[in-house]
Amino acid sequence: MRQSIFFMPTLKETPADAVAKSHQVMLRGGYIRQVTAGVYSYLPLGYKVLRKTEKIIEEEMANAGVVEMIMPHMLPASMWEESGRLPKYGPEMFRLKDRHGREMLLGPTHEETFTEVVAKSIKSYKQMPLHLYQIQTKFRDENRPRFGLLRGREFVMLDGYSFAASREQLDKQFEDEKAAYLKIFKRTGVEVRPVIADSGTMGGKNSTEFQAPAAVGEDTIATNASGTYAANLEMAVSVDTFKQEAEELKEMEKVATPGCDSIDKLAEFLHVPATRIVKSILYIVDEKKKVLVLIRADKEINEVKLTHLLDCDSLRVAETADLEELTGAGKGGVGPVNADWADEIVADETVKGLYNVVVGAGESDYQFVNANLGRDFDADRFADLRVANEGEPDPVDHEPLQFTTSIEVGHIFKLGTYYTETMGAKFLDQNGKSQPVIMGSYGIGVTRLLSAVVEQHATENEVAWPKEIAPFGIHIIQMKMKDEVQTKLAQDLEAKFAKYDVLYDDRNERPGVKFNDADLVGAPIRITVGRDAADGFVEVKRPSDEQAQKIAVTDLDDFIA
Ligand code: ATP
Ligand code: MG
Ligand code: MG
Ligand code: MG
Repeated sequence: MRQSIFFMPTLKETPADAVAKSHQVMLRGGYIRQVTAGVYSYLPLGYKVLRKTEKIIEEEMANAGVVEMIMPHMLPASMWEESGRLPKYGPEMFRLKDRHGREMLLGPTHEETFTEVVAKSIKSYKQMPLHLYQIQTKFRDENRPRFGLLRGREFVMLDGYSFAASREQLDKQFEDEKAAYLKIFKRTGVEVRPVIADSGTMGGKNSTEFQAPAAVGEDTIATNASGTYAANLEMAVSVDTFKQEAEELKEMEKVATPGCDSIDKLAEFLHVPATRIVKSILYIVDEKKKVLVLIRADKEINEVKLTHLLDCDSLRVAETADLEELTGAGKGGVGPVNADWADEIVADETVKGLYNVVVGAGESDYQFVNANLGRDFDADRFADLRVANEGEPDPVDHEPLQFTTSIEVGHIFKLGTYYTETMGAKFLDQNGKSQPVIMGSYGIGVTRLLSAVVEQHATENEVAWPKEIAPFGIHIIQMKMKDEVQTKLAQDLEAKFAKYDVLYDDRNERPGVKFNDADLVGAPIRITVGRDAADGFVEVKRPSDEQAQKIAVTDLDDFIA
């Protein structure tokens, strides 16, 4: 590609409204332009990176035996009524009416569509396991679109859906997709951590997020030093679930059993079967300190979390009254998340970020809200609290957790039969019995991933794109366009290295302009053809190199390989 015909409108100044580094760099480098809040055009440079990323996804999905297809963007609202998700999804949904007054929407995710089109067409267990995906534009009317591609209202997602006849099939599909995602992240050069996560409005249990550590990240993950534990601090549970659970568990008495360090011990203490603990959500109150602790649903989570449970003596199953007291119910304590209260919780060593425990109050009913300690509360105070906790005696020998801000770049769920039961997608099993199809759903925010890569691989003025997704593999810069020797050599190199995807700066610009632009293109290898061309020498530089080095043209092959 000749830069003289390329469209790469770079900016000298960082636009004032761009806060995130990736947003700044992508605007300055002419990768993207905003059309309206949270909606972007992908200019040639941005589109090249996007397409290369999509190509990696296509390859890894094919390797994992996941088949590509594409669903429509525009969907009937009726499908979402059928699944019961329409009211839950709320104002994030872009909705419209057709000329006949029928309710339509722009797909924010496609569980319903895949259930309708694919799961409902499965008649026999013989048609499964089945695993499909698409790379598609999604629409979400985010409350706060921001940080460029990190939180858009229109964005590209890889979304996969799996269909299984048994839990074992689902488990394998989940593991296959997870393994493929890890390969995709590796190839795109982004460092990610799989973490335990909540499943939000997806209505599924068993979910893992892929979190890319970055200062700008809106999430916070908690990890321990030995790497055996990683979880998102964010968690959302509805108060209805809470009340129902509390109701069921009400008769249970407080029993003093020290050291709840295993599922079995906790079960004994709570007088519930161990199977119940691995399957359901329990709410426990620390009586002395009035702390609410959630123990999440599945076994993987409990096994880890229970090792952090401190002391059964002071715990009991929570009742609605506990929640009301904690959230200020009955005291007119309606409002957003109560930060004072939350700080108190955070300060408590029983919790100390080990559990996702923040509660807020909704308009008419008290609700657990999605809360994020770093985002929703004063991070500095939080830091102090953590420091204050350090060195305190630990009743159980658990490791202290570290907290890292990070970007959710992917999320996978074992949905189970939620959609197929509500929407009626059944198949005949081996015994001729009718069963709901078992589903999984999987997603990577492709455009968000690009921002995450830049967050991890750029300074304010320079990107160092990982090799496989760099917009160009080699950037040739000719210093003086009027110099025929330079032109001849630059053109020869352009042809010779064509397979690496070459950008050749053949513009009549000053070297300073060319180098500044080259920093924003971020090619893994830059070749400068200057006055040494006549002697058969050029300069080469990788983004990580402090300085360019002079090498003979004859050594270029080795350098590049
Ligand atoms: P978030 O918590 O950041 O709002 P989410 O949990 O709502 O994300 P999912 O429903 O899990 O998102 O969608 C799958 C993936 O799509 C996410 O892991 C993320 O990478 C990406 N994604 C979600 N919302 C956006 C957005 N507004 N802009 C860009 N990418 C997004
Ligand atoms: Mg969201
Ligand atoms: Mg999320
Ligand atoms: Mg998610």
